[in-house]
Amino acid sequence: MSSQAPVSSSAQAHLMGVYNRAPLAFERGQGARLTSTDGEVYLDCMAGIATNALGHAHPRLVNAIKTQAEKLWHVSNIFRIPEQEKLADRLTAETFADVVFFTNSGTEAIECALKLARKYHSAKGQPERIDIITFEGAFHGRTYAAVNAGGNPSYTDGFGPRLPGYIHLPFGDHEALKAAIGPTTAAIMIEPVQGEGGARAVPDACLRGLRELCDQEGILLIYDEVQCGLGRTGKLFAYEWSGAAPDVMAVAKALGSGFPVGACLATRDAAAGMGVGAHGSTFGGNPLAMVVAYEAVDEIAKPSTLDNVREVAGYFTQQLNGLKDQYPDIIVDVRGRGLLIGIKLIPNNRDFMVLARDQKLLVAGGGDNCVRLLPPLTLTIEEAQEAVAKIGRACEVAREHAKAKA
Ligand SMILES: *Cc1c(COP(=O)(O)O)cnc(C)c1O
Repeated sequence: MSSQAPVSSSAQAHLMGVYNRAPLAFERGQGARLTSTDGEVYLDCMAGIATNALGHAHPRLVNAIKTQAEKLWHVSNIFRIPEQEKLADRLTAETFADVVFFTNSGTEAIECALKLARKYHSAKGQPERIDIITFEGAFHGRTYAAVNAGGNPSYTDGFGPRLPGYIHLPFGDHEALKAAIGPTTAAIMIEPVQGEGGARAVPDACLRGLRELCDQEGILLIYDEVQCGLGRTGKLFAYEWSGAAPDVMAVAKALGSGFPVGACLATRDAAAGMGVGAHGSTFGGNPLAMVVAYEAVDEIAKPSTLDNVREVAGYFTQQLNGLKDQYPDIIVDVRGRGLLIGIKLIPNNRDFMVLARDQKLLVAGGGDNCVRLLPPLTLTIEEAQEAVAKIGRACEVAREHAKAKA
């Protein structure tokens, strides 16, 4: 085969076909703006799926990565890594947690949480406690354990037998939950705000109920804050709204604001089984990732950043509900928390994403026929106004399309 093949649609010929990609590529980004390879400027309200929390090319992160790149990228975890100790100190100071394990992704942070939960009970003399309870609509990542935990058949079909030890319950069914807990239960795992499932927030009272239940039963409560954590809801972590702390929490996406890094946070007691040799990662927590993540966390944790999230989120909620009233034939629900916003649609959500792109607005898809707005936490009110206007125009076009079909 010629190595001189022209760049065309066949340019994807050597990529595994696991993604449904839009015919669009980007060359550079600045704040909430992305410039495509054909020179068009887009307003980015998906932020790499809640990942570019500080927008693109944030000067503080650019500076951090440049400085560290000239010093030290990677050393093995068989050595002390001061940059890792510093970020762990910060994350534990900001949360319920006492200890942290660093990973490269969200699914690995979940993997650590799942292993930790079983090891916890095993170390306490109850190795039969292996079951992890999760909820319909959940998404916990794509490793073999994570897809089994999530339970979405389209992610498990064809990958051999389902793993034992994962129990999936309906969302919000308290009786089913009580009935499911027994002598083999290890933990309950939940996203305080479901992301991929379509921006569904778990009521604060339910999280407090889960906390009580886990205490009564001697099982662990695991939060998956990979998407809803790190400022996304207007507090540093989504669980803070409820006051119900978990025993274990997975974070990633926004942790490096675009640099691949994740973490599993836990209380010292919950992590009691995770002694020397119990777990590990080659790349996890390397100095380059740690320095970028520390700067990102420090910037996200600023009151001014979190205040901005709340203010812009309030504006979106009000304006999007206005659009819902104006276009009841297009928008049926506006939900979520903070800047994790779900717009549940009547027309197909994938089609609506294309209409938004035609307006030079990028939004994410989501379960339950939603599109999600997951803009940088630094989005300004003016940019939010622009986003709302673009969504309004997309609604207008969607209405015209529906009329033409009828
Ligand atoms: C994205 C996501 C994951 C998986 O993270 P990856 O970095 O893609 O492995 C897990 N849980 C939730 C809630 C997520 O949104």
